[in-house]
Amino acid sequence: MITPIIDEKAIERLRAMINGVQRIAITCHKSPDGDALGSTLALCHVLRRLGKDAVVVTPDMAPRSLEFIPGVHDIVVFTKHELRARHVLQEAQLICCLDFNAMKRIDRLAEIIEPLKTPRVLIDHHLGPEDVFDLAISFPEASSTCELVFRVLMQLGLLKFMDRYTASCLYVGLLTDTGGFAYSCENPEFYEIVASVMRRRFDRITLYNKAMNTFSADSLRLQGYAINEKMELYPECGVALITLDKEELERFNYNRGDTETLVNKPLAIPGIYWSVFMREDADKIKLSCRSQGDFSVSDICEHYFNGGGHKNAAGGEFDGTIDEAVQVFHQVLADLFPDVTEQKTEEQQ
Ligand code: 5GP
Ligand code: MN
Repeated sequence: MITPIIDEKAIERLRAMINGVQRIAITCHKSPDGDALGSTLALCHVLRRLGKDAVVVTPDMAPRSLEFIPGVHDIVVFTKHELRARHVLQEAQLICCLDFNAMKRIDRLAEIIEPLKTPRVLIDHHLGPEDVFDLAISFPEASSTCELVFRVLMQLGLLKFMDRYTASCLYVGLLTDTGGFAYSCENPEFYEIVASVMRRRFDRITLYNKAMNTFSADSLRLQGYAINEKMELYPECGVALITLDKEELERFNYNRGDTETLVNKPLAIPGIYWSVFMREDADKIKLSCRSQGDFSVSDICEHYFNGGGHKNAAGGEFDGTIDEAVQVFHQVLADLFPDVTEQKTEEQQ
């Protein structure tokens, strides 16, 4: 039994919003991941089957590693087709905002959407959504936005429109946002949702391999290098840090998505319960953090790195050099583990 956790009034409002319109735009956060793409495309497939003109608009391109998701090539990407993206958003009668909680997460799409009077619906599982949506379906305890899209469809009575393509999209988000059913999936109902999705009989094994276990040779070599030569352990604080600068990324012909799961790797080491990965981007340092148990990396990303996310998986950005970002990281350790850091300083003297 899958509990209808979304308030019935919210479902009825959403039903009325969808019924009353023809043109629907669906969007998600920049650098879209498996959950962002899976949830937007799943919702888009179902709305199209309902006869709506639904279009997914993303701030930037999907990584090449996720191009297998059904419908990815129909996405209107702002950085590629700016005029078309503007047109779709401006003409839309309803805008569905999936897998993000704050307008800054959609980059330049925010400038287009903010002045519009078009009703906005949020479907998301990040903590603390901004109060800028006409209807917010926000459940930080959910595994993924794909889980929430499934629940929305279930409560709207639209699961009959969940075909093989929609199910594949949902499966990608359920899988990738839980690290392959490893974390954020404690609720037994999660597996009932997986079971229901699987009944649509897509090629699950191929999908798993494409979503979870496909890396280019360059990407594997880069990850090997990062772990072998760049992983710093701070056992007293239970943390590992990996940094990669531009030169190192270029050496391994870096493509977006190549280091997607690298930050999880140090958590395999006994005693390491949080992990930080810093990557030098075009004009900033991009951070990824993961943790196990009660230790919240989203607090750290929010307070020190202008970011956020979930308790066990968060990210942020830093304006400055990688060395400066590492200094801030050391400050985090000093703030969180003053005893350890003091002891170290005494030892050094
Ligand atoms: P990842 O490490 O896979 O890039 O992101 C992990 C989680 O943190 C995702 O849920 C993502 O939405 C969130 N996140 C990543 N980067 C940022 C950021 O710059 N700002 C905020 N607020 N959240 C982020
Ligand atoms: Mn997500």
